[in-house]
Amino acid sequence: MSSRTALFRAGLHQIYRDHPTAILNPKTSYHFVRPSGRHTGHFLRAAETLRYGAQISFIAASILPHLSLDEISCIYTDTSAINSVAYALLEIWSALVPSLDRPTVDSFGSYEGIRGGCDFEPREGCLCLISAATSSKMVDEIEQERLVPRAHQVILFYVGPSLGDTTNILCDLTKRDDNPSGTVEIFEDWDPQDCRLCPAESDDCSHHR
Ligand SMILES: [Zn+2]
Repeated sequence: MSSRTALFRAGLHQIYRDHPTAILNPKTSYHFVRPSGRHTGHFLRAAETLRYGAQISFIAASILPHLSLDEISCIYTDTSAINSVAYALLEIWSALVPSLDRPTVDSFGSYEGIRGGCDFEPREGCLCLISAATSSKMVDEIEQERLVPRAHQVILFYVGPSLGDTTNILCDLTKRDDNPSGTVEIFEDWDPQDCRLCPAESDDCSHHR
């Protein structure tokens, strides 16, 4: 691992530790339904980490090693809650390239946008920022719909099984043998009929990826 990679990794994990509410585990009146239909008691919220400008800039800077800025003409986010990271990236980028033709920043609104619910169209040279994920499902769908190439997609915070080297993850929080800096156990989930959280609760479930 290069010293630059180690520095970004350590900094991103510290940002997560500074904001423990990034993982929502209500344990009370509701739980979540993943797009797959499986139920889970945890929800990863990247926006919770975006409170301080210096940390937002650090997260944005950590995107730089993952792609060539020359190839990017627009930025999509899965939720407008992380648009501050996109704008921070543009600030850094403008400082590096004063003549920059400033890319646009738009949010496509998670799976609804991918599946045609908003104006998320394939465009040359787009960067796609995904706030948080527990699998490669969103990256896969975006790639399959030919909206943004996989190499131009970046997940900010991740908890889940290893996705190999072809998926860009800024901060993998997962406690796994191949991820020694990870501290978060993979979230349990269940088929709806086997959900351990359903019987004592109503069906008041929010969506989760
Ligand atoms: Zn349930």
